[in-house]
Amino acid sequence: MIIILKENTTAQEIENLAGIVKSHGVVPHISQGMHQTIMGLVGDTTRIDIESISQLKIVEAVRRIQEPFKNANRKFHPLDTVIKVGDAVIGGGSLTLIAGPCSVESEEQIISVARNVKSSGAKILRGGAFKPRTSPYAFQGLREEGIKLLLEAKKDTGLPIVTEIMDLSQLDLFDEIDVIQVGARNMQNFELLKQLGHSGKPVLLKRGLSNTYQELLMSAEYIMAFGNEQVILCERGIRTFETYTRNTLDISAVPALKKLSHLPVVIDPSHAAGIAEFVSPLSMAAVASGADGLIIEVHNDPSKAKCDGAQSLTPENFDTLAKKLHILKNAMAEA
Ligand code: PEP
Ligand code: MN
Repeated sequence: MIIILKENTTAQEIENLAGIVKSHGVVPHISQGMHQTIMGLVGDTTRIDIESISQLKIVEAVRRIQEPFKNANRKFHPLDTVIKVGDAVIGGGSLTLIAGPCSVESEEQIISVARNVKSSGAKILRGGAFKPRTSPYAFQGLREEGIKLLLEAKKDTGLPIVTEIMDLSQLDLFDEIDVIQVGARNMQNFELLKQLGHSGKPVLLKRGLSNTYQELLMSAEYIMAFGNEQVILCERGIRTFETYTRNTLDISAVPALKKLSHLPVVIDPSHAAGIAEFVSPLSMAAVASGADGLIIEVHNDPSKAKCDGAQSLTPENFDTLAKKLHILKNAMAEA
């Protein structure tokens, strides 16, 4: 349920209303828009008497929200959520580039890629330390050592780090990590999502291989319901009948998720395509559709990568792409 307040409602009046709502065991969330203040109600609202709330002099309208996601719902929070990570700003119309290798392999590798992507305009460094691999015989990541190397790269370049957590037992290692990634395979690991709700760190939440927008938003809702509003949604391609590409990039996810939710939406064209040559056109499509950012795999020597070399860009190709994306973004701003 949302309560739309009249313009010029005072802070004291809002507080009084919040008190009434809390006395019914419901949690109020205030969202101050440009022209409107909205009080979103989370919890069992069946005991709230819509009639009597509607009649209060500060209330413009009361509406029930049909969707099961509340905190993540655009109706609760009409303005875009903007998440700040180091110098990076994600959401609210900017285009943030996140780049780096699929997995951290060595100090030279991660530092050289970090320096390269930074010079091309990336604002956040990605790199997997814990790798969810389909085969137990494939490289599983450098794990704790990988986290250390990412922090070395952060010290060297100043770039904030995003890296994937696979299990709650790893959380202590993420103290100095800036953004915690929840991979596609863990999108519905609800215990993990709850704990990330307590973590106080931004979470990059990837859409599961076969999950709907609503399921993705319900997973975001878990993190938010447990106290963390800093969730970045990531579309990384879904399973379809097509096998030529690794996954199918669902570009509709951008306008749809942005309509349904105020959370930033980033696109991962690398895991969507699985083919380096397609990363550039898919990135352009993502920006054209209004994505808030891109997370792109870049490797200093893709042919020797321990993971996902076929979809990794060289630093030179990433540089060319970054320039094209900024031209496109500027053209869109003028259009
Ligand atoms: C990754 O980003 O390296 C990764 C494993 O992604 P996803 O969870 O989207 O497959
Ligand atoms: Mn990868």
